[in-house]
Amino acid sequence: EQDRSVRGFYEGRERIRHAFHNNEFVLLYQPKVNMRTGIVIGAEALIRWQHPEKGLLSPTEFLPPIENDPLVVDIENWVISESVKQANEWAKHGLTITVSVNICPRHLEHVSFASVLQALLAEYPQLPSYTLELEVLETSTLLDVKSVSDTIRACNDFGVSFALDDFGTGYSSLTYLRQLPVQTLKIDQSFVRDMLDDPEDLAILDGVIGLSRAFDKRVIAEGVETAEHCEFLLRLGCELAQGFGIARPMPAAEFEQWVKEW
Ligand code: C2E
Ligand code: MG
Ligand code: MG
Repeated sequence: EQDRSVRGFYEGRERIRHAFHNNEFVLLYQPKVNMRTGIVIGAEALIRWQHPEKGLLSPTEFLPPIENDPLVVDIENWVISESVKQANEWAKHGLTITVSVNICPRHLEHVSFASVLQALLAEYPQLPSYTLELEVLETSTLLDVKSVSDTIRACNDFGVSFALDDFGTGYSSLTYLRQLPVQTLKIDQSFVRDMLDDPEDLAILDGVIGLSRAFDKRVIAEGVETAEHCEFLLRLGCELAQGFGIARPMPAAEFEQWVKEW
């Protein structure tokens, strides 16, 4: 049984590698807005696998098996490059927003990360420096905090900002908050989803917003599904949000029209 599952695992990986080289991955973009002013501040790029038989697959269905594989680095670099290209297209049409890309912390441990990114951005000299944000995903393994901090600082120097994604769920969130020079905390959607019914989740939310103030960070809520969530978050002092209640992730081609109608 174990042999079979190990084989299945590697087949899965080979299939994913093939999919990548066969251009079967696509990106959707989900808007981020300021709920008080109504301004669209950015978009998060979210990867999907357009599987020839199974249809559109979500990242939780194909990223976990390659979590520790060098392939994930190639995929993330592709996502960065596509997203920056897309931001450049939007900027040409007068829509200047920050695009956010998800990055595994392991990728940030690569010593060449900052220089590779800087070279990529140099291809778009007309883009404002704040166009790209990287969302560092929570991790179950301990990071080399020193090398990740150095990378983040190097990228900050050429205008790339960072957010801690799914904040509050990882087991060393607070250590990372103290040591990594990130600009934004992204409150995990699990706390947002249940805040209206669960006083403990509400307390966590309130606490994270307080932490963001104390550490002078921006704070954004993810998983905002209803107007009630919006009103409550505004009352707690969180103005930035992303979620199905604002818009679902959509193809790049629909984004500009959405902004016009928003
Ligand atoms: P994440 O970065 O926390 O992204 C937010 C996820 O929440 C997205 O799921 C999004 O579709 C979903 N979401 C947004 N608003 C709502 C809402 O109001 N309600 C609910 N229930 N869900 C909402 P998605 O696209 O399936 O992505 C799942 C995770 O996969 C992401 O979580 C991120 O960790 C990872 N991921 C996505 N794209 C990439 C990528 O390009 N590279 C890497 N390394 N990871 C990625
Ligand atoms: Mg994210
Ligand atoms: Mg999340």
